[in-house]
Parts: sequence; structure tokens; C-alpha cells
Amino acid sequence: MDQLETLQSLSEQMELEHAEESRGEPARPACFTPKARPEFTEREKRAAFVHPAQLPNGKQIKLLKTLLSSACERDCFYCPFRAGRDFRRAAFKPQEFAELFMKLHQSNMAEGIFLSSGIAAGGANTQNKILDTAEILRNKLGFRGYLHLKIMPGAEKGQVERLMQLADRVSINLEAPNTERLARLAPNKTFIEELFRPLKWVEEIRQSQPAYKGWKGRWPSTVTQFVAGGSDESDLELLTTTDWLMKNVRLKRAYFSAFHPISDTPMENKPAVDPMREHRLYQASFLLRDYGFDLEEMPFVQDGNLPLAEDPKLAWAQQNLQGKPLEINNAERGELLRIPGIGPKGADAILRARKLSKLRDLAALRKLGIVAARAAPFLLLDGRRPESQAMMF
Ligand code: SF4
Repeated sequence: MDQLETLQSLSEQMELEHAEESRGEPARPACFTPKARPEFTEREKRAAFVHPAQLPNGKQIKLLKTLLSSACERDCFYCPFRAGRDFRRAAFKPQEFAELFMKLHQSNMAEGIFLSSGIAAGGANTQNKILDTAEILRNKLGFRGYLHLKIMPGAEKGQVERLMQLADRVSINLEAPNTERLARLAPNKTFIEELFRPLKWVEEIRQSQPAYKGWKGRWPSTVTQFVAGGSDESDLELLTTTDWLMKNVRLKRAYFSAFHPISDTPMENKPAVDPMREHRLYQASFLLRDYGFDLEEMPFVQDGNLPLAEDPKLAWAQQNLQGKPLEINNAERGELLRIPGIGPKGADAILRARKLSKLRDLAALRKLGIVAARAAPFLLLDGRRPESQAMMF
């Protein structure tokens, strides 16, 4: 395998990793047609797998999502890289990968990196390889762009601290919401010691050390990912853990990857999970993070799952606001956020606009970016219900 074939091989399963995707929809690997320098052949351009990604600051970039190595000594039941699965493994040495990435970067083919790895000779050893790669990129080759680095199960606290000095974002995938569920997915990973504790370390370091020690003077954000439906867990279990992490260790975001079976794994006959479940989990996690909802307010049904057919915010509003519409001209920000069709930006726009004049019709809301037809059944405009106006839109 040459370097480009190695990169292709290491990148092609990374659509399973949802990190940096903006709407919870899996992005397809994309081959950009950049203004490449002449040294890249057509074949090389086709081989460079980068994903369109949205960074934490909202900026869109071309993100190279890849592994350093697809050899792994663990045997997680769902994973295409698990030990013993029959496929051709590939790996880069840190220097080799860093130099190849810089070539892609300088040719405008990739602007940032999401770097993970299969585990070989222990988590700490593998973490060192990721750290070495980051050190070369930052300190030898002068790369100042976006770097999202994976914390390996089994990493040491000092390694996590060093990662945090080099990365814009760090993450470790919990995969399942608790110890019992993880045992069904990855019997050789320990939930508390290997996965949960590093997330706590990140927050301890952020709390106890000054931010100037972080990359560009700030500490990286943290995210995690779950295999939704992989361990027959409920949405309640997934969102309970997500909510705790967001409140207690400032988790920026949880990603949910709907389980789908991979051939030649112990879970190859388990049915795929409806991708709509992933979407509902994202919606609910945003309600917890940005809209002031509590876990108890989520419209779970008896089995602890969210209804697939209904947006959780709409379901809440139908139960709680149908007979008690909110007056748009008086409602507080937290109340505005309860109305379907109004997000954080829309709520702020309403607060600004109503300082100037009363909002009296749906057209005024639409100008503020509100999905007026969606909001109409749950609000009053200067004392009047707008249903008849909603029909016009
Ligand atoms: S440790 Fe990671 S790469 Fe290895 S089998 Fe488990 S999920 Fe896959």
C-alpha cells in the first residue's frame, strides 16, 4: 500500500464517527476538487477522504477524519476494526502521517484533522503515538489549524493533559450509557476507569489550571459518542448520562450513531436501528443543553424511549401549551424557547424586536427567522390567537 492507499483505508470507516457534524446527519465522505498543486495526481485527489464539518465556532471546514492505525487488540462487538476480524490493516507512523497531512493541507485539500486509532500494545502506548503526531504537526511543521484528538481507553492523566495543550477538541467515546450496557458492546472496556474517568480528568484540568496553558490560550472542548441501540439501552439511559456529563463535566455535545451491523462481527445479525432514533436523540439533547428543558420533561413513552414519530419539543408543547398559549410580547426568554419554531437566536430576536414595537402578526415573526406556522398554535400575538393567520403561510 502506498501512502494514499493507506490513508484511504484508514479513513473509509470514519463515517461511523459523527464528530463535528452539524445536524446529527451522517456526512458522506466527500472528495473535494481543490486548487491542488501539480504534485497531486488525479488519483491522489480522489483518494483524499475529507468530510465537510462544522467547527464549534460554526465555521465550515474540510476535515480529514482518520485513524493512525486500524490494527486493534480490543474486540468491541460492533466495531469493524475489532481484533481478529479478517481485513487488511493499515497504519501510519506519526512523522509519516503528519507530513502527508501537511501536503494535503498546503494544497487546500484538508484544513483540519480528527485523529483516532485502533489500540495496540495498550491504550497509553497508542496515546503516545497520537501525541507524537500532534507534537510534530504543531511544533515541527507549524500546523495551527483545527485538531480534534481522541483520548484512548487506558490513557494516563498526564497524557490527557498534554493532549489538551495541543488540541482544539478532545473526545472519548462512551459508546454505551453505563457499565451494564457497555458490557454488551465492549466487554474488554471498563466504563468508569477507562472511559468516564478521562472525561472527568479533562474538566479537573480545566478547573485547576489556567487556560493559557491550552492551545491558543484556551482549553479544548469535549464531546463523546454513543452507539444508539447497540446495547438495547433506552433513550432515557442515554440522555441521563448525556445530561449528567453536560452539567457536571461541561460536555459540549453528545453524538449518537445509530447501530448498524457490520459483517464478520458478533453483532452482524442484530437489526439496524432506525436513523430517526438518532435524530430524536439529537433533538432531545439540544433541548437539555440549549433550551432549558429538564430530563423529566422529555416525552418518554413506557419503554423509556422517545416517540420516533414526533419531535420531542412539539410533543411537549402539545401536552403543555395547547390550551395555554404564551403571549409573545410578554413571555420571558425561557418561555419563548418552549414554543416550537423558536430557537435561541429567534428568542433573542423577539426580545430585541419587541423593545421597539409590539409583535402583532405572524409576518413580523417570520421576518425574525421564526418558523411562524409551527409556532402559531402555541402563542398569542397581542392577546389574539393567530391560527387563522397561520393558514396563510
Ligand atoms: S477499541 Fe476502538 S478500534 Fe478497537 S475494537 Fe474497540 S471500538 Fe474498535
